[in-house]
Amino acid sequence: MHVAMDPTIAYKVSQSRLAREIAATYVAGEDVDSAIVKAVDQVCKGLDVSLHPLDPDPVDLAQARRATVRLCRAIESLGANPVFDGHAEVSISLAALGLRVDDDLALDHARQVCQVARDNHVAVTVDDEGPDIHDRSHRIVMDLLDDYEDTGIVIQAARHDSLTQVRQLAAPGRRIRLCKGSYTGPRSVTLIRPHDVDLRMAACLRALMTGPSTVMLASHDPVFVALGEQLMASLDRPLEFQMLQGIRPLEQRRLVDIGHRMRVYLPYGHDWYRYCTRRIVERPSNIWLFGRSLVER
Ligand code: FAD
Repeated sequence: MHVAMDPTIAYKVSQSRLAREIAATYVAGEDVDSAIVKAVDQVCKGLDVSLHPLDPDPVDLAQARRATVRLCRAIESLGANPVFDGHAEVSISLAALGLRVDDDLALDHARQVCQVARDNHVAVTVDDEGPDIHDRSHRIVMDLLDDYEDTGIVIQAARHDSLTQVRQLAAPGRRIRLCKGSYTGPRSVTLIRPHDVDLRMAACLRALMTGPSTVMLASHDPVFVALGEQLMASLDRPLEFQMLQGIRPLEQRRLVDIGHRMRVYLPYGHDWYRYCTRRIVERPSNIWLFGRSLVER
C-alpha cells in the first residue's frame, strides 16, 4: 500500500523531532554504512541480521539498474566483513529491482543479486509483495529457486492460498519465512478478520514445522513466539525467529539468551519515512505499539 501525502508536508513531518526519533528506532540508518555499523552491533550481541534497502520503486530501467548495483555493493561490504560470516542476509524487494517496470528485468536483476550474495556468503530472502504484484513476484521467485535453491521465500498467512503454498513450497532445506502479511484485501485474496489470520498463521506454522523446510517465523506476536517455542520443543527441531529492528527488543534478547536463533530485520535508506508511515497505515494499532516500544527500550 502506498501512502499518498503532499511532498512538502511529508518533508516537513519527516524533519520533525518525533519522526526522526521514531526513524532512529526502526531504521538502521540512511545509508548502507550506517546500517552495517548497526548490524555489527547486533551480531556482536548474538543476533543474526537481515538488511533491507528502502528504495522507492524504480520507474525506469536506469533506476532499477542503479538500485541493483547499490544492493550488490552492499552485499560485497557484508561479505568483506568476517563478523558477518554465517550471520548476514539481505531481504530484497523485487519491486525495488524493477518488477513494476518489467518482469524479465526484475528476474535478471534478482539473479545478479543472488550470484553476488552466493560469492560473498550472504543469504538472500525475497520479501513477499502486495496483491497487485504478488503472482508475478511469486513466478520470479520460482525461477530463481532453479539456480539459487537456498533463496529464502515468504508466505503471508493472511492470503487465502497460504496453506496451499506451505504444502506446495515445502522442500528439504528450503528456507521459508512465515509472516501474517502486511497487505489487507481484496477479500477474494486475503483473510480480513484478525482472528482468522491468527488461526491460519497457527495452521501454517504447524504445517511448516512438521515438514522438511527450514522455518523462519517473522512475528512479534507473543502467541506465535510461544507456539514456535512449543513446537521446537515437542518436535525437537530448530526454528529461526525474526523481528523488525526496534520492536520488542527485550523479547529479542530473551530468545537469544536461551539459545534460539533470532534474526533482526534492519531496513535502511533515504526512504525511511515512507517505511515508517506504511507500517502505521497498514496496521494503525502500530502507532500505539511503536509508542510502547519507545518506552520498552
Ligand atoms: P501483529 O498482529 O501486528 O501484532 C500482534 C501482537 O504482537 C500485538 O498484539 C503485540 O502483543 C505484539 N506486537 C506487535 N508489534 C509490537 C510492537 N511494536 N511492540 C510491542 N509488541 C508488539 N510482510 C509481508 O507482507 N511480506 C514480507 O515479506 C514481510 N517480511 C517480514 C519480515 C520480518 C522479519 C517481519 C518481522 C515482518 C515481516 N512482514 C512481512 C510483516 C508481517 O507480515 C506483519 O505485518 C508484521 O510482522 C506484524 O505482524 P505480527 O505478527 O508482528 O503481529
